[in-house]
Amino acid sequence: MQIFNTVAEIQQYLNECRSKNAAIGFTPTMGALHEGHLSLVRRAVSDNEISVCSIFVNPTQFDDKADLDRYPRTLERDGAMLEGAGNHVIFAPSVAEVYPPGLDTSHGVDFGEMADQMEGAHRPGHFDGMAQVVKRLVDIVQPNRMYMGQKDYQQQALVKEMLRQLDYKTKVVTCEIIREPDGLAMSSRNRHLTPDERESAGHINKVLRRLKEVAEILPLAVAKAQALEQLRHIPGAVPDYLEIVDAVTLKRLDNFEDAQSVVACTTVRIGKVRLLDNMILNE
Ligand code: AMP
Repeated sequence: MQIFNTVAEIQQYLNECRSKNAAIGFTPTMGALHEGHLSLVRRAVSDNEISVCSIFVNPTQFDDKADLDRYPRTLERDGAMLEGAGNHVIFAPSVAEVYPPGLDTSHGVDFGEMADQMEGAHRPGHFDGMAQVVKRLVDIVQPNRMYMGQKDYQQQALVKEMLRQLDYKTKVVTCEIIREPDGLAMSSRNRHLTPDERESAGHINKVLRRLKEVAEILPLAVAKAQALEQLRHIPGAVPDYLEIVDAVTLKRLDNFEDAQSVVACTTVRIGKVRLLDNMILNE
């Protein structure tokens, strides 16, 4: 496995790969890897000749400085896990390498209402920072395919919209959510939960599973109100939002019939940790 820290090095290597017609699959991450990340990387390895995984804790997408400071950094362990998954290239740049002074790294995309609700409403500036770093990394790596998790539902929808508006050829492959045995979506932030909080966190997905069952028989507004009440009853849990939206446009829905695919997205705070989960309701 190759490890590159600079743009010049990785671009030289990938240009050689491209000259041999190798397809490049790319998985952007912030490190502190777990099975969820590895599922994306394994998919990139099986679909492409070259799998590139970036590890970069992007300061511009953190609206909370304390969250940035406490974000886990486990580069050595991440490297061993990626090697085990058959990954070919790690790109682990410095902040100065990603955002060199004088370089315009703005994304220039208008997301409209897609970015204003859900995570966008609770984390001002987060999606601008996310779009900025994803565009910059895609410009550097120029992948044929990019692998993203359904876990960050709004994020992958916005990235698809960004690539569409920029007319980039990179295709986004959205991969299913990898969960702990009790249903909790794996996340680098789960390690900050106390044992009691961890126990509570396992109930979030159970509420979404129940919501999926009742959404078939009850009006969506009623099913949503019930689920929100159930989230509030989880010990120590404070839901930031629960929304039922069109899976592509992220527009809020009142009826199933108004969209081809419907997704319920929630973020629940437990202790200091914000936990994201979602479920496609009409799958
Ligand atoms: P992060 O390092 O948290 O920025 O995540 C990097 C990528 O891994 C994103 O596309 C996430 O959606 C994806 N990811 C994170 N957790 C999971 C999970 N439990 N299952 C599948 N993908 C995930």
